Amino acid sequence: MQRKKAHINARIEEASINKGIIVLLTGNGKGKSSSALGMVCRALGYDMQVAIVKFLKGVQDTGEDAFLAQQKNIQTTFMKTGFTWDTQDKECDTQKAKETWAVAEQYLKDESINLVVLDELTYMISYQYLDETNILNTLNNRPNNQHVVITGRAASDSLIEIADTVSEVKDIKHAFRANIKAQKGVDL
Ligand code: ATP
Ligand code: MG
Repeated sequence: MQRKKAHINARIEEASINKGIIVLLTGNGKGKSSSALGMVCRALGYDMQVAIVKFLKGVQDTGEDAFLAQQKNIQTTFMKTGFTWDTQDKECDTQKAKETWAVAEQYLKDESINLVVLDELTYMISYQYLDETNILNTLNNRPNNQHVVITGRAASDSLIEIADTVSEVKDIKHAFRANIKAQKGVDL
């Protein structure tokens, strides 16, 4: 234990770099967007400025949308697709994705914003709604101390490469498969 402690202390000493990082939360399990919201709470606790962009916002409002609307130091942008399984309209969705990304680009240039959440961004790349190279360039050129959290299933190799911290949430069990409805405070 003594040796382990010395090793960990040495590693903590070595970690002396201070910079904005990209956190990527991917995988099929539940907990990606809610983890991003956890980091938003942390940042707001330090009076940091936060911007949230929700791509593919579902038809249902979530508890956090109502909560965040009451907070200071936070800006939110939702991509309202009106998406349902019956009315997929690629052209319309691509247009909405581009408009939403244009707002994200402004946040990713703004030095006064300390944390930017790009919720469900991975789908914009996998559905080819947005150009991946442009996204990667914008992320690379953002202000030095700005943190970014990206969520969504099936993150591309390039996103994994550009991110500093990557976690894959593994789906072991989900209540929905036992016919339990999405629950307020847990799922929405
Ligand atoms: P959360 O927002 O709860 O952190 P998430 O961001 O990891 O979830 P998404 O794929 O964005 O997952 O889906 C959001 C919604 O779908 C939530 O209501 C969540 O409970 C539900 N969900 C997530 N994973 C699964 C799954 N494997 N099976 C069924 N429903 C799921
Ligand atoms: Mg999510």
